[in-house]
Amino acid sequence: MGEVLKRRTQTPNGACLVLMLKPFCSRRNQTSFAAATFTLIHLHHYNTIPQPYPHHKYSVISAIKSSSHKTHLLQIHAHILTTTLIQHPTISLHFLSRLALSGPLQDPTYSHRFFDQISNPFVFHYNTMIRAYSLSDSPQKALFLYRDMRRKGIASDPLSSSFAVKSCIRFLYLFGGLQVHCNVLKEGHQSDTLLLTSLMDLYSQCQRCDDASKVFDEIPQKDTVAWNVMISCCIRNNRTRDALSLFDVMQTESYQCEPDNVTCLLLLQACARLNALEFGERIHSYITERGYGGVLNLSNSLISMYSRCGCLDKAYEVFMGMENKTVISWSAMISGLAVNGYGREAIEAFEEMQRNGIRPDDHTFTGILSGCSHSRLLDEGMSFFDRMISEFRITPAIHHYGCMVDLFGRAGLLDKAYQLITSMEVKPDSTVWRTLLGACRIHGDVALGERVIGHLIELKAQEAGDYVLLLNIYSSAGQWEKVAEVRKLMREKSIQTTPGCSTIELKGVVHEFVVDDISHSKMVELYHTLDEINKQLKIAGYVVELSSELHKIDDKEKCYALSYHSEKLAIAFGVLATPPGTTLRVASNLRVCVDCHNFLKLFSAVYNRDVTLRDHKRFHHFRGGQCSCSDYW
Ligand SMILES: [Zn+2]
Ligand SMILES: [Zn+2]
Repeated sequence: MGEVLKRRTQTPNGACLVLMLKPFCSRRNQTSFAAATFTLIHLHHYNTIPQPYPHHKYSVISAIKSSSHKTHLLQIHAHILTTTLIQHPTISLHFLSRLALSGPLQDPTYSHRFFDQISNPFVFHYNTMIRAYSLSDSPQKALFLYRDMRRKGIASDPLSSSFAVKSCIRFLYLFGGLQVHCNVLKEGHQSDTLLLTSLMDLYSQCQRCDDASKVFDEIPQKDTVAWNVMISCCIRNNRTRDALSLFDVMQTESYQCEPDNVTCLLLLQACARLNALEFGERIHSYITERGYGGVLNLSNSLISMYSRCGCLDKAYEVFMGMENKTVISWSAMISGLAVNGYGREAIEAFEEMQRNGIRPDDHTFTGILSGCSHSRLLDEGMSFFDRMISEFRITPAIHHYGCMVDLFGRAGLLDKAYQLITSMEVKPDSTVWRTLLGACRIHGDVALGERVIGHLIELKAQEAGDYVLLLNIYSSAGQWEKVAEVRKLMREKSIQTTPGCSTIELKGVVHEFVVDDISHSKMVELYHTLDEINKQLKIAGYVVELSSELHKIDDKEKCYALSYHSEKLAIAFGVLATPPGTTLRVASNLRVCVDCHNFLKLFSAVYNRDVTLRDHKRFHHFRGGQCSCSDYW
């Protein structure tokens, strides 16, 4: 180094200087960076660089690009300040990008200080700084800068607006997004796909699905990213069925857009939510055709989708076909077994996973603990909970405690469950209390049920469903006065129960039914079929469980109301539309009522059909008059 320096200072020739710095600044020779910068600064100090010297600019830019250490950046900063090269737009832009976005520092505060040293920043300087803030912990500053730029009369370009919208997404600031949208219209940037896609994303995340749709319609050339944002918007805003239909629409002649692996990932989520097995199988075929089969997160999502659609064979097939199974793959398989009531198999999978040298994480334990609780494996569940803490050093989170409360609840150890909630290290949430309330209903524990409702009220988290559980507890204990009291309270507080809604998928189309539904196109045949099923089941001994209907109506009306619960409508539609013997897969948004459960058990025997019902929490596999939940749900 000394030798080189001596040689260069003796012959201060510009062209030689560039040749000398070039190897130092090349990407492969980053360790020599300090030497290069030092030489540059040193030569400048001794006035050995001819002024003005055109090649100098390029040496500085290449030094900026190859800077790999914080001190290198500080040295360059000092250098471009003293040489006033900072006022050169290309140099200041390169340096700002390296400082704020890609270099070793990435400190927005320092970058902003540098930005302030630029006398006349251009829009691209602003864009870099806005982008840096949009990725930082203070995204609101991106919006301040965007406004500041416009106040100074610098017109924003589509990139500035796009970064400003991204910052609004970070802190879900709808009003800021609306302001940017106005600017976009004012400046005529409404044909920029990237910008409009960011705006859609903001509206989607702020639950403004209609606004997102409007922006989507305005995009002249919709690319796959825009379609993906629209699909995710539908899933996020409970328009899951629309999400599925977009898969076909995007591929039509008018749009000719090819779904990619992200599209598949989103649609698998939608299928899992809707229990749409046939559609999920279509996505699976598409994944195989397009060669996305090796994408790890797609395989993991396929396992989850098949498990959540109650189709464990297929989930297992995907799992076995995976070359590299990660802890996520194992956890997905374990959770799938658990939620379908295969607790023992979930434990076996856990042991197999350990034999394969994969360390379980907290999700694996959520799966295994819920498996133990669904299959009533009390001792095993308790032992896994202890091992999680002592052997694997995983601090139990609220959902682990939730599984344990469910486990104790199912075993009838209600006091133990209550003690666990009151002694746990995390603050109990409404879900944990609700789990215990469900156990109180099954075991008819009125006193504890009242205490639990008290806790839910304290948390201001009580929902209509909780009062329904309390009503159930009182009515099964024959405490009719209390039933009347709760009903009065619900009326006074205008507490509305969530209407039951069930879906059934036939030939890839998801059909939705709500209680007393009269909107379906085959309504007359549907109700006729349901009446026929009711008749057949009554011959086989089915008696309507009147306590399942909680409204204050007479028995005849109760009988009528129960006949048209959404689960039954979905089953009738399945009978109407499929050949005998076909398995019917129904998903429901609420906990299945006792009457529907009895109905489905008998239906599976009389009609010799398997029925899979996924209620809000678990699976019920009905076959030959029995249910996999052993009447505990
Ligand atoms: Zn029901
Ligand atoms: Zn069941």
